[in-house]
Amino acid sequence: MTGKTPPADGTAPPDIAAALKALQDALPGDALVTDPDECARAAQGARYGDGKAAFMVRPATTAQLVSATRICRAHAVPVLPQGANTGLVGDSTPDASGTQAIVSLERLTEVFRVDLPNRSVTVSAGFRLSELNRRLEPHGLTFPIDLGADPSVGGMIATNTGGSRFIRYGDVRANLLALKLLPVNGQSDLLELSSAVRKDNSGLALKHLVAGSGHRLGIITEATLNLDYLPSQSATAMIAPAAEETLIDLVGALERRYGHLLTAVEAISAPAFAFAKSHLPELASPFHPEAFPPLALLVELSSSLGAEDLNLQSCLETGLADMYEKGLIENGVMGRGNDFWAVRHALTEGARAAGYVIGFDISVPRGAITEFRRRAKGFVEQGLPGAIVADFGHIGDGGLHFNVVCPFERPAERDQETIKSLRREIYDLVVLEFHGSFSAEHGIGPSNMEYFHSYKAEPVKRLEDDITRLFSQEYPFA
Ligand SMILES: Cc1cc2nc3c(=O)[nH]c(=O)nc-3n(C[C@H](O)[C@H](O)[C@H](O)COP(=O)(O)OP(=O)(O)OC[C@H]3O[C@@H](n4cnc5c(N)ncnc54)[C@H](O)[C@@H]3O)c2cc1C
Repeated sequence: MTGKTPPADGTAPPDIAAALKALQDALPGDALVTDPDECARAAQGARYGDGKAAFMVRPATTAQLVSATRICRAHAVPVLPQGANTGLVGDSTPDASGTQAIVSLERLTEVFRVDLPNRSVTVSAGFRLSELNRRLEPHGLTFPIDLGADPSVGGMIATNTGGSRFIRYGDVRANLLALKLLPVNGQSDLLELSSAVRKDNSGLALKHLVAGSGHRLGIITEATLNLDYLPSQSATAMIAPAAEETLIDLVGALERRYGHLLTAVEAISAPAFAFAKSHLPELASPFHPEAFPPLALLVELSSSLGAEDLNLQSCLETGLADMYEKGLIENGVMGRGNDFWAVRHALTEGARAAGYVIGFDISVPRGAITEFRRRAKGFVEQGLPGAIVADFGHIGDGGLHFNVVCPFERPAERDQETIKSLRREIYDLVVLEFHGSFSAEHGIGPSNMEYFHSYKAEPVKRLEDDITRLFSQEYPFA
């Protein structure tokens, strides 16, 4: 332990100068960043979060990480772990006080161990998803979480990333075998939570508490992840459901027919497509732009079976023809997988280019999706006339990015109250009526804290606080 220990109540003022001096002595030069521009860049979130960092440390080894956090702790400087900074709830950037230190994990890539017999990999938290999968590819393996950003392993665990192939592979938690955590209190050694085994009932599943906890419980330094075999073929279609009322019957029919072959069912609304197309005219239109259905589904089947064992393309064609016969599908286009995914991944950018976006990352039980969309659109029409709902998302797992686009300048300050009431109406509908979630994928963080406090039952909040306190008895994480 370096230097003095702050009082247990965390009231000692941060001594940034002393922390910097001790860090300079303890770390190699490139592990400490004080350059204002670099710190300012790291203090700006992908979408939300715009603060000021006291400084940034970028440890390349776990030993440097432990040493840096202990020094910060000794000088009462709160630390904020940051992975790839792609999080969407303002939780990877410091507040405006200028007293918090960013601990960037981007250089922590010392461990990469594939265990082929176990179909798993042990990696440092700083690895990006793209690099992880690039290294796994020669082994015919993949970490099957798929999304439109390139996050770090630690950030993915901290936010329990879902993504587009959740319907087949689940979220990060479902693929997390073990992890190492530097607890918030900075006192203990690294905690090893579970091991590479898939079956382990030898105690509480603490690793699962860490997944999705943000950085509340500590800094994840390493993880062992379940891998899947790279599919050797896939087939994709973009389909127009016959009616919104039978949309979820169609999803059920796809699941029943294809089981584990079904790797994605993503919804794309006509306005979301129109914004993407006008922002990126080179995007291939699955349907004629004017004939884009109110809501289209991108359906993907994948298999590690070779084409000699299974013709996935014809399997999809036959199934969709059958569903057309049954009146579940009105229209469909087969097989331009990359083009279809390019459309899917352009939707967020398209909406942001079209106006000011009020985003809702919600989930409801699947049977309530259509009713939710109908009622929420009604709230938008009433509260924000002229705004356009350009929603899309992982509809196969009941998730929806219900984006409301105001195609004009950022709404004036006086309209912020209207937006606030719209948020409240929509979240009330999601949580109180449909028993869904106001944060399906992105977590809590400053952006959602208000809703966490509104909608979580008091005893549940107390339990969460107590558990957090067990990990953080003395030391404030940002
Ligand atoms: C274009 C785009 C598309 C996206 N699509 C999806 C999607 O489909 N599904 C989805 O779930 N998310 C999605 N996201 C959100 C985001 O990519 C995920 O939340 C991602 O997992 C964050 O990882 P990160 O490394 O960028 O973490 P950061 O943004 O750096 O951090 C996020 C949180 O994790 C904490 N953290 C980071 N590293 C560690 C660590 N080692 N130990 C402890 N805490 C840590 C941070 O303090 C912060 O609280 C998307 C984001 C963008 C920009």
